[in-house]
Amino acid sequence: MTGGFTGTGLVKRYRRDAETVHALAGVDLTVAAGELVALVGPSGSGKSTLLALLCGWETADAGRLAYSGLPADRRPDTLGWPELALVPQALGLVAELSLLDNVLLPARLRGTAAAEQGRAAALLADFGLDHLADRYPSQASLGEQQRAAVARALLLRPGVLLADEPTAHQDRDSADRLLDAVVAAARDGAAVLVATHDEIAWARADRVLSMRDGRITEGPPR
Ligand code: ADP
Ligand code: MG
Repeated sequence: MTGGFTGTGLVKRYRRDAETVHALAGVDLTVAAGELVALVGPSGSGKSTLLALLCGWETADAGRLAYSGLPADRRPDTLGWPELALVPQALGLVAELSLLDNVLLPARLRGTAAAEQGRAAALLADFGLDHLADRYPSQASLGEQQRAAVARALLLRPGVLLADEPTAHQDRDSADRLLDAVVAAARDGAAVLVATHDEIAWARADRVLSMRDGRITEGPPR
């Protein structure tokens, strides 16, 4: 089981034609097991890039990542859903699967879908999706799809939970229910990092980190 994680001196540059974008310009952060941290910053400040490094989709140009409970050389792209789960900004639901089967996907990949049926049904009910279980993503609203993506990430009670603007498409009530579940995951011991513009989400966090121009400062934006 993973718990907290630490990033040290993280640098990520993207080349765009002749221009180099310093998406991350030396980021240090630690999120402890059991802690919910909100990552706040304007569009383009590097939030999604940081999550992409932390989940192993992108590789840092410099810096180190460490996940507690795992060997220091364990790379994030080798972590499975029980160790690290992500709610991508673009959700990443599988179009060919029902919402229920999308939520069950992490268990299906491990051969434990039967054992997780009850948990999947409970998550769908918590998020007001029980009547939509058999619908395909294209037959659900964006907000409903987003709630399914959060349920999928929570299914296996991950040690690390990364969520990219998970309340972006929600009304206040639905956002509160999502945040209740995210807070509960942290209280159960997950290390949770949520990129968010939602001030109510910051209020539920144990700590707020502000991101601007690829750098992080402790505390809410000024
Ligand atoms: P945020 O999630 O805070 O809106 P991003 O991490 O998506 O910010 O982007 C940070 C910066 O890196 C932006 O300037 C963005 O345009 C740039 N960027 C992100 N991904 C790429 C990419 N694949 N290629 C080039 N530039 C990118
Ligand atoms: Mg983003």
